[in-house]
Amino acid sequence: MIRSVKGFNDILPCESRRWRRVEDAARDIFDRFGFSEIRTPVVEKMELFKRSVGAVTDIVEKEMYAFPDRKGESLCLRPEGTASVVRAYIQNNLYHEDPVAKLYYMGPMFRYERPQKGRTRQFYQIGAEVLGVDDPLLDAEILYMLSLLFGRMGIGGIELSINSLGCVLCRPSYRESLISYFKKHHSRLCVDCKRRLELNPLRVLDCKNKDCIEASACAPYMKNNLCENCSEHFSEVKAGLELLNVSYTINPKMVRGLDYYTKTAFEITCSRLGSQNAVAAGGRYDRLVKELGGPDTPGFGFAVGLERTVLLLEEDLSAASKIDVYVIPLGSEASRWSLKMVKELREKNLSAELSYGRRSLKSHMRRADKLNVRYVIIIGEDELRKGTCVLKDMKNSVQQEINSGSAASFISETVDKGNGILKGEVS
Ligand code: ATP
Ligand code: MG
Repeated sequence: MIRSVKGFNDILPCESRRWRRVEDAARDIFDRFGFSEIRTPVVEKMELFKRSVGAVTDIVEKEMYAFPDRKGESLCLRPEGTASVVRAYIQNNLYHEDPVAKLYYMGPMFRYERPQKGRTRQFYQIGAEVLGVDDPLLDAEILYMLSLLFGRMGIGGIELSINSLGCVLCRPSYRESLISYFKKHHSRLCVDCKRRLELNPLRVLDCKNKDCIEASACAPYMKNNLCENCSEHFSEVKAGLELLNVSYTINPKMVRGLDYYTKTAFEITCSRLGSQNAVAAGGRYDRLVKELGGPDTPGFGFAVGLERTVLLLEEDLSAASKIDVYVIPLGSEASRWSLKMVKELREKNLSAELSYGRRSLKSHMRRADKLNVRYVIIIGEDELRKGTCVLKDMKNSVQQEINSGSAASFISETVDKGNGILKGEVS
């Protein structure tokens, strides 16, 4: 038997309903905030992520699915969505259409990581990006949108932590002070952090290694080294969150694993997820568009991890059926009549399924029960002759014989009225 690739999972019908719930809630909320969907390719040039996410990051150094194509061009499976969206924004001159672009996406991302609960190699993200707005209130508004999204899905117990990562003016001097701090604790750092120290000292603050965490205990914080503009921006974000009643904590050590962030960075976690506790993350990236060759355009965005979100969804106990009407023919002539019947029902926007196979009525009914359908139509030789069929309301076990010619309209009207109660009992 050929099995799937490690870390690449099937999403089975029993789970996909929950996935749809998340996707539908996200689309609905994004619509209300004026976002439009963008779909970018899964394969991109490797250079895109080196230049955006950063060459000295875990994602690019260790987690990329990179490969040369047949002509030797260096390609990869996208590890995240923001860089692709920004590339598409620049390449398609979206800024000509509107100075503000609000874009969302959902789709698979790929990272070569150790698969475990809440961590897979192909995983799905739902993300949104706003390009062209530098107002800190936008940061707060988008964080509010995220809290609304989790609220809509009935997911409680999530925590928002925010930080500011500064800008080109204040980050370089902070970087220097961080390097000199960590030089004093050099011997305690892990191999990766020793190597990265000069290239990307902020990464050390993000390292999960126990010794590195201890070594960074007294490290200087970016939030205490912000320039006036960044400091004001951060205060406005906080004020906006308070205005919108979004609770948050400040985590001065959070730096995020991608280099493109400036000013606001955030993470949403949930302790119920265990060790892979981040369910969404993002921030502001005011230099990314320019660095990728576009006009000087600020940006703010986030990505929600779908696998982890689905893990947080309450069990859906309603087990609602997708099928409104299940048509059971008894005999081959009745089968042909039923084929036309399901066609008619579907034309009336009802979902219908024909019960195939020469089986006993009992066995047909067992499947109807299993599918948890609302109505069953039964038609046998007798009914065919009389031009009738038996309609059974499975919810209250009432059944009646109705005219077969008008069965579809009758059911459609009953369902439309939302009562679904059949009157007149015939057994
Ligand atoms: P983590 O710290 O868990 O590795 P990250 O900082 O690498 O997360 P981001 O790049 O910010 O994550 O991606 C945003 C979200 O995507 C995460 O909060 C998480 O929910 C989800 N995510 C990231 N990597 C994976 C993965 N390998 N499997 C499943 N979900 C993931
Ligand atoms: Mg990661």
